[in-house]
Amino acid sequence: MDNVFHLKLNHEDKIATKNLVPGIKAYKEKTLSIKDVEYRIWNPFRSKLAAAIMKKLELMPIKKKTSVLYLGASTGTTVSHISDIVGTAGKIFAVEHSSRVAREFINRVAIHRPNIIPIIEDARMPQNYFAIYEKIDVVYADIAQQNQTEIAINNCKMYLKCYGYLLLVIKARSIDVSKRYQEITNLELKKLKCFSVIQKIDLYPYDKDHFIILAKFLQ
Ligand code: SAM
Repeated sequence: MDNVFHLKLNHEDKIATKNLVPGIKAYKEKTLSIKDVEYRIWNPFRSKLAAAIMKKLELMPIKKKTSVLYLGASTGTTVSHISDIVGTAGKIFAVEHSSRVAREFINRVAIHRPNIIPIIEDARMPQNYFAIYEKIDVVYADIAQQNQTEIAINNCKMYLKCYGYLLLVIKARSIDVSKRYQEITNLELKKLKCFSVIQKIDLYPYDKDHFIILAKFLQ
């Protein structure tokens, strides 16, 4: 996996990314310096992408130079690690609709990282992202909304390259009632008609009621 590092910290296995902006933290993440290189520990309890990697994500579509459309940037925990991975030759168009949250994201994360382009817009209206004028390699969607899958698909139809990848975080109601959880998973998967689904990962124990889908866009 490009630019995702497996390290030992206090005898525990951790994953980390190389800090693109050494000395600057995005949240209260632990950092570690090895041979003058600063690594940021990537906490799977704080980031669903890190949880997916810990749970054996088969293929990591986000690499050095990748362009990413990220829906639901929040305060930028996951976006900051993606920024480390794609490096200065990659870019992240980070969409967040709450102006209060976006302000925190910009001041804490985006301002320090030249590869992040914040977009304060509603992901339900992708036609309003005037900053994007090209097709994108990967769409990452984590907006925790009821119609999150439809919103992600609409964004892909507008911006994702043919054979590009979608990483879709699904917040299922509960995994305690296993039948209900399965039903939700299957219903969401059926909606991905113009995709080839590569993997579906239950994020437990890092996130109790979430799963992530990795799919390839066929349009
Ligand atoms: N992906 C983030 C991370 O790992 O650091 C956490 C995302 S949080 C679960 C969901 C975020 O999506 C919230 O910040 C929320 O404001 C945002 N959101 C929800 N609906 C949205 C929409 N329609 N358009 C843009 N952002 C939205």
